[in-house]
Amino acid sequence: MTTILDAVRPVTAGAQALFDTPAVLGMLIDGAWQQSSGGNTLETRDPATGRTIATIADASPADVDDAVAAARRAFPAWSQTVPAARAAILNRIADLIDAHIDELAELETLDQGKPLHVGRWAEIPGAVAQFRFFAGQAMAIEGRTVTPSITYQPAGKQIAAWTLREPVGVVAAIVPWNSPLVLTAMKLAPALAAGCTVVLKPAEDTSVTALRLGELMMQAGLPAGVLNIVTGRGAVSGAALAAHPGVDKIAFTGSTQTGRAIVDASRGNLKRITLELGGKSPVVILPDADLDLAIAGAANAIFFNAGQVCVAGSRAYVHASIYDRVMAGLSDHAQALQLGHGLNPGTQMGPLVSVQQATRVEGFIAAARSSGADIVAGGERRGAFGTFISPTVIGNVTPNMDVVREEIFGPVLVVQPYEDIEAVVEAANDSPYGLAASVWTQSLSSAHRLSRQIQAGTVWINCHAMYDPSLPIGGVKQSGYGRDSGLAALDNYLEWKTVCAVV
Ligand code: NAD
Repeated sequence: MTTILDAVRPVTAGAQALFDTPAVLGMLIDGAWQQSSGGNTLETRDPATGRTIATIADASPADVDDAVAAARRAFPAWSQTVPAARAAILNRIADLIDAHIDELAELETLDQGKPLHVGRWAEIPGAVAQFRFFAGQAMAIEGRTVTPSITYQPAGKQIAAWTLREPVGVVAAIVPWNSPLVLTAMKLAPALAAGCTVVLKPAEDTSVTALRLGELMMQAGLPAGVLNIVTGRGAVSGAALAAHPGVDKIAFTGSTQTGRAIVDASRGNLKRITLELGGKSPVVILPDADLDLAIAGAANAIFFNAGQVCVAGSRAYVHASIYDRVMAGLSDHAQALQLGHGLNPGTQMGPLVSVQQATRVEGFIAAARSSGADIVAGGERRGAFGTFISPTVIGNVTPNMDVVREEIFGPVLVVQPYEDIEAVVEAANDSPYGLAASVWTQSLSSAHRLSRQIQAGTVWINCHAMYDPSLPIGGVKQSGYGRDSGLAALDNYLEWKTVCAVV
């Protein structure tokens, strides 16, 4: 494994500006860009090098009040806009993201650390697809006509009844740092399509692309106040949003721990909540699997984006008859990965988002080692700034170790052998989480059976982490409730209204 930690110079003007001189970025409130009323700021660093790339506003609760008030003022007009007008704006947003895709990908790499190709070819096109999909859905929102069985209407009269779909109101969209732009798009596109107005709170470590997206969205013709962006600390502006009486719904993606805090904070006005939370997703490799495909797939399932993926395949269960071969293949993959700055074209795996996250991940590896687990590949901390963790494969674990049970959110895979299908289903389901899973087999019958038996919001067969705006994504158990993407996501932002008439 070699490292190429120095960044090559970005090629787009927007990213070069940030690369050369740290930017001072304001928040978007009621169509205007402004600093925090308290004057507080936070520094944003390139996670590969530790260099400051931007200063962002650290919003105060008063700023949150202003943003929510702006969203409330904008709601009546936006919610009454004809669907085709909302769709046109969403399509223009998609066009503008597409036109700035190289710049946004470079900004995402500088801000989050991910290899350029991840943003350029997977995540930013994914954001474009979200806006296009929900632009179409904006014009397909429909209620139902119903024939009730009510028998007590006045003589000679009939009952006519129907349902309407109406936007929920003001949405607080709170998103994490692992895939900032696409996760933001997953909230904004359906919320705006439904006719809601939004206050967005990006993660404190990764606000740059959300703010650039805000500029593009205003350029696309979004009216002032329909989207507001407050940046800053989760414990301050995030918590103020979650508790705010002017917010009708919270669309949250982040850790299970913060999800719980949001549920508690939302009680005052009984906000609608959807929670896309953590996971510890199993990868189950059956003895009849195409092993070349399965080994490469399982390695990618954990090392893509340095394991900072909610659906990362962080627990592999491998049939005992193929365990040694799969373990050797996984560790070869881990050792061959090129670590480096995300802007370098040869980089396959970037840093973790922050020193704090790298320290956390290193702690899990150290605890596993001292409990007797075998670190078969990787396990080292790298880079002058200390944010790189070499791709790590761990064997000889027991089911109760933290490294097996807890979400690590780093490039750390635990591999366990199993003897029979019943045992592997039980092991896969032995987790508080239920976000996703993948099953690798050439047997149609095993694939069908396991897809039903594994407790998860998504089960992939012979693939992992395949996303599309048409496919709902979300969890069961403590991975949360509600879904992003797909028609299910639009439902999150709509209420049912029943109209019942004697005619
Ligand atoms: P986090 O929970 O620490 O933070 C997420 C967001 O919540 C940030 O914007 C943060 O500022 C804000 N926040 C923090 N404290 C808050 C509070 N008390 N009230 C309101 N907001 C608050 O998560 P993270 O560390 O940024 O992201 C990693 C987590 O996100 C992992 O657990 C990962 O699995 C999860 N995730 C889930 C999905 C999914 O679709 N299920 C997708 C991506 C990431």
